[in-house]
Amino acid sequence: MVRLLKDESLVSQWEKFFEEHCKSDIETVALEYPEKRSLFVDYWDIDKADPKLAELLLSQPFKALFNGEEALKKIDVASENKIQLHFRITNLPDTNKIIIRKIRANHLGKFMAIDGLIKKRTEVRPKLQVGAFQCSKCGAVIRIEQDEDILKEPSECYEDQGGCGRVSSFKLLTNLSQFIDSQKIEVQENPEGLRGGAQPERISVFLEDDLVGEIAPGDRVVVNGVLHSMQRRRGTFRLTSFDKTMDANSIESQELAFEEIDVTPEDEKEILKISKDPRLYEKMTESIAPTIYGLNVEKAALVLQLFGGLAKEMPDGTRIRGDIHTLFVGDPGTAKSQMLYYMSKLAPRSVYASGKASTAAGLTAAAVRDEFGEGQWTLEAGALVLADMGVACIDEIDKMEETDRSAMHQAMEQQEISVAKAGINATLKSRCAILAAANPKLGRFDEFLPMHEQINMPPALISRFDLIFSILDKPNRTTDTDLATHILRAHKAGEITENIARSKKSKHTKKEQESFMKDIIPTIAPDFFRKYVAYAKRNIFPVMTDEALDMLRRYYVDFRASSEDSVTFTPRQLEAFVRLSEASARIRLSQEVTVEDAKRAIHIIDQYLRRVGLDRETGKFDIDIIATGISHSQHDRMRTIMDIIKRLSDEAKDGNALRGDIIRESEIEGLESGKVEEALDRLKRQGQIYEPAHGKYKITEY
Ligand code: ADP
Ligand code: MG
Repeated sequence: MVRLLKDESLVSQWEKFFEEHCKSDIETVALEYPEKRSLFVDYWDIDKADPKLAELLLSQPFKALFNGEEALKKIDVASENKIQLHFRITNLPDTNKIIIRKIRANHLGKFMAIDGLIKKRTEVRPKLQVGAFQCSKCGAVIRIEQDEDILKEPSECYEDQGGCGRVSSFKLLTNLSQFIDSQKIEVQENPEGLRGGAQPERISVFLEDDLVGEIAPGDRVVVNGVLHSMQRRRGTFRLTSFDKTMDANSIESQELAFEEIDVTPEDEKEILKISKDPRLYEKMTESIAPTIYGLNVEKAALVLQLFGGLAKEMPDGTRIRGDIHTLFVGDPGTAKSQMLYYMSKLAPRSVYASGKASTAAGLTAAAVRDEFGEGQWTLEAGALVLADMGVACIDEIDKMEETDRSAMHQAMEQQEISVAKAGINATLKSRCAILAAANPKLGRFDEFLPMHEQINMPPALISRFDLIFSILDKPNRTTDTDLATHILRAHKAGEITENIARSKKSKHTKKEQESFMKDIIPTIAPDFFRKYVAYAKRNIFPVMTDEALDMLRRYYVDFRASSEDSVTFTPRQLEAFVRLSEASARIRLSQEVTVEDAKRAIHIIDQYLRRVGLDRETGKFDIDIIATGISHSQHDRMRTIMDIIKRLSDEAKDGNALRGDIIRESEIEGLESGKVEEALDRLKRQGQIYEPAHGKYKITEY
């Protein structure tokens, strides 16, 4: 096969090209050989120099590349130093870029570029390239090039390799054989390319030698390579159907922000114009899920989340996240899922996933051993990794798996996910904003119960969200009327549209359709909105003005001071303020965070704390409710009661404190009896006290 591929005239054509265009590149690579082993050439450089050669590369890549590498051996520096470089091509023309789902039989054997996300990668394994086999009869060593997956053995002891010419049995000598590093990855279509909730398709790609180990799950890449078919097997039978796979020739990473979103100069003009609109913020808020009635504070927060704050690298090597994490908790049927779904369509690089994991990788990442790895361990990316640099919309986050739960802390704060299992030891990036929704455990949300008792999530995790909104479904004649009107009109708008489009003689007019549609058409069209976000995130890195800084500091200090002994804000909230203010400035495309931005951040956080952070007893904000599940005042009360029980039981002969006595003593300290009973129950539940006999309490000794 190798001999058939070799074409002397083609080799000399390539040699000419390399001599004329790549001489210095080859010399550079040669200097760093064997660390660097590849010559990368832009497709268009070849096309400019020799269009025929470029053409051949696309249509007969095997032949073109093989002879190219042959030619590379002949270039002076290479031949003098016995260097064999790989010939790798980047930047293929658009005609050869293809979406994974569109790959057809006629693409096989062609040089194509696919773009997507790395979903999985196996460990790096050595693969036999040239096998050295020893003849059991004469001891000669016969070399066989391995170009298939199945081991190829000599069929006889070849005389032309100095063997005895007899049919024999052979032993593979690994230390005389040649190996190459190999790795298999799975590339998944970019979510942007998917329409209408389609499941992304995937393709297996084989990497060899210096391409291995460079990429990680979650990376966005363009893989250039030759499409292949691989015969399927059932046991030892070979089937007539084939799987499509690719042999990678080169990988280009798309590290830059939102390269996939194309902002033209006209778009830019439009973006700059809108950014000066006095109703900019309202217009953006209106453009978030307009079919959903109300939830305006939530929508305003989602706009801020879309833009996000600035991630910062500190001189000590730590990184502070800029992404804003938002959580919706609330009654069923309040459009939480609907909002998440809308955002996942709107936000660039977003992923929609359910907490109930559908794959082994779940929300974070996992090392798995499945069919894909053919016995090897595979590292698979979950939603938070796939949403790197975007928004991860996670519905029903309260139902997430135990394994995800522990990785989630790191994923939310450090924005990394570490996997250490079997041979795999990796850290994946999850620099995404999280938009999550949770349903209350008991079906309905109870404003008077602490958050962590209502949703099945540890308080430490809940407190990592910058914003938490409780969405309650309480009957109210006015809002119910408005909501019903909105929903019914939205449905009617849809009905009229269908009616006009499908029935032969519709009595409805375009004008009527427009008047109904008006409310539910986003003011800023989603495609343009996405460009706006990408533009802002790419170009705008606002800096806090002294006034804004002052305002946030004052607000923080005043707030903590005014709430005396209860803990209100923690530095975590202060960071949330910063992120929200930065996002607010970005929306205006302002390079400065002004007082206006600080105010907007304060307003949003204020709204959220009013709903979820309020201590019902004191009427004050209390961040402890979110962080630990009990308010500061509750905590103090429990301490007081514990002290009383301790004193009473020390005094009592049998060492038990009587319920009546505890309540009486507590009332002297100013606690209501109802609250005392509640606290006793809680203390007992927590195991801090126990009840050896009815109405008698004792402190648990550890
Ligand atoms: P959740 O996830 O909160 O349980 P869903 O997102 O599944 O609720 O919403 C249930 C249905 O009710 C959806 O079809 C949604 O469009 C509708 N709905 C709920 N609240 C609103 C609202 N405020 N405006 C418009 N539609 C709503
Ligand atoms: Mg839901």
